[in-house]
Amino acid sequence: MARYTGPQCRLCRAEGSKLFLKGERCFSDRCAVTKKRPAPGKNLRSRQNKRTDYGVQLREKQKMRRIYCMLEKQFRITFQKAAKMPGRTGDSLIALLEKRLDNIVYRLRFASSRKQARQMVSHGHVFVNGQRVTIPSYQLKVNDKVELGEKAKKLLSVKESMKEYTRSGVAPWLEVNPDALVGYLRAVPRRGDVTDLADIREQLVVELYSK
Ligand code: SF4
Repeated sequence: MARYTGPQCRLCRAEGSKLFLKGERCFSDRCAVTKKRPAPGKNLRSRQNKRTDYGVQLREKQKMRRIYCMLEKQFRITFQKAAKMPGRTGDSLIALLEKRLDNIVYRLRFASSRKQARQMVSHGHVFVNGQRVTIPSYQLKVNDKVELGEKAKKLLSVKESMKEYTRSGVAPWLEVNPDALVGYLRAVPRRGDVTDLADIREQLVVELYSK
């Protein structure tokens, strides 16, 4: 399946919930979901009301996949890894998604969206434990060090997104030095700590893939 290149807010409007795809705008009054803009397509509302159990599970999976900017195949492979791990599969899935390098770059506030973080990684601006890593799906381990290259440290977009760090800090499983633009993964992310995914019902994704 090809990567979606249309308007990002349209995806949120279709799902009826915030997927946090556009950085700072998502937290402002300009967000289409905050403004309660209707779902795209004139028949979508009536279709939403008639969803089957399968349809509800499918929408939940699509929401998660879009939040983390992943293609179906990558997402399914991540689920399969989670299913083999001990403990609840839904919790393992979220931990694996959260430990992706592009997500950590976003969570450290080095980028204002996951899409931007993904681009920074694939363009070679990110170093893990001193080594350049260009794979957005790279899985970090606890105490790994993530650092931006010298060129990226001077980017205006990085300075802009670090303003969010000043406003709200970072997630509890991370530590960041905002002056040096160096961050660490200090613990495996726990489901309860991922507060911006509070609306996501990962159990439905587990049920969908377990059929
Ligand atoms: Fe657009 Fe972000 Fe709001 Fe989604 S959450 S509608 S991407 S501004």
